[in-house]
Amino acid sequence: MNDLSREEKMSVLNGLRVDGKRLWDALMALAQIGATEKGGVKRLALTDLDRQGRDLVVGWGKAAGMTVTIDQIGNVFMRRAGTNDALPPVMTGSHIDTQPTGGKFDGNYGVLAGLEVVRTLNDHGIRTEAPIEVAFWTNEEGSRFVPVMMGSGVFCGAFSLETAYAAKDVDGKTVGEELERIGYKGTQVPGDHPIGAYFETHIEQGPVLEDADKVIGVVPAVMGLSWYDCTVTGMEAHAGPTPMGLRRDAMQVAAQIIPEVVAIANRYPPYGRGTVGMMQVFPNSRNVIPGEVKFSIDLRNVNDELLNKMHEEISAFVENTAAASGLSIKLERVSYYPPCPFHPDVVGAVRSATAKLGYSAMDVVSGAGHDAIYAARLAPSGMIFVPCKDGISHNEIEDAQPGHLEAGCNVLLHAMLERAKVV
Ligand SMILES: [Zn+2]
Repeated sequence: MNDLSREEKMSVLNGLRVDGKRLWDALMALAQIGATEKGGVKRLALTDLDRQGRDLVVGWGKAAGMTVTIDQIGNVFMRRAGTNDALPPVMTGSHIDTQPTGGKFDGNYGVLAGLEVVRTLNDHGIRTEAPIEVAFWTNEEGSRFVPVMMGSGVFCGAFSLETAYAAKDVDGKTVGEELERIGYKGTQVPGDHPIGAYFETHIEQGPVLEDADKVIGVVPAVMGLSWYDCTVTGMEAHAGPTPMGLRRDAMQVAAQIIPEVVAIANRYPPYGRGTVGMMQVFPNSRNVIPGEVKFSIDLRNVNDELLNKMHEEISAFVENTAAASGLSIKLERVSYYPPCPFHPDVVGAVRSATAKLGYSAMDVVSGAGHDAIYAARLAPSGMIFVPCKDGISHNEIEDAQPGHLEAGCNVLLHAMLERAKVV
């Protein structure tokens, strides 16, 4: 590259593309570790299979000339030096642990897309001013150990290393022991690792891109959520002898609240979401007027102000319904995560790379959690989505098209180069 004129260099750079087949082959090779009969992957965090997966990816990273750092929670950072190695790295990454009935692409794609970016830069002898790093974060899925997004959460200080180490699986094994056992308890203090910018490519895990027939999702933000437990208390009584006017029917009152959850979400388009997904009826007998009904409410929005308005509306509606019905209704907020807007510079880099490459694209707000949410607390961050078949993920039938994965990886390559600067 160094012998070329500026114009020649620009034309090489503009024409630069990843090797889609090599990316696909790496995904398929990693998916062999923990492969299930139905074509999915079961590679739970910190198991022997996780170690094998980690070893394979680290081996690939080293073969691509990267140096490897592991921190105390087992996050792995593979680094390709920059010409100015004192600059904070332009990082990409995701996770390689899976759900018990997981697929081949969730997380794995983000990590191997990063590896493919580095392999492509190596092929063409391209040096960047800032170092480039490919990370994978420990226990993103949270299915063996809670909380989810553990490695990135400890890294950004959302919870402590001690809390994470003490987390136990169903057999009583702790994260601390298991990290030690598989040889991935590193020495670097989590968070003691600068990041200049963070990109994460991921399958969408939803149906929006496929439905709109677009290849690239530019992700401006991740939705915030507000979770509630709602309990309506009435009086159990016989369904026959009790006249309609003398009942205290918890179900009928709950049934007034449920459509309001959907109505509230519809009042805050396009990103308002309202779901009642869980319900328990007591005593759950066909000839007894329900004395108590408990149900969950899940409200989401991408805008915190709107999410707060949704919160106020459900609170007021419940209060009014209690007053009108004369029944007691308890609404308890059990979880709240504010929306996570991504950094305009990083979102902009994704947008301009997509436009330059000519892929069809649209903005897609993420409804699911990702390591990028925690990375965003420390560095300008953003995500790139590609479609997955029927929007299905966390399922062994999870599927994605090679061409879409390649396109997302090309966007990653060009967006990272914009940030890391080619010398
Ligand atoms: Zn994931």
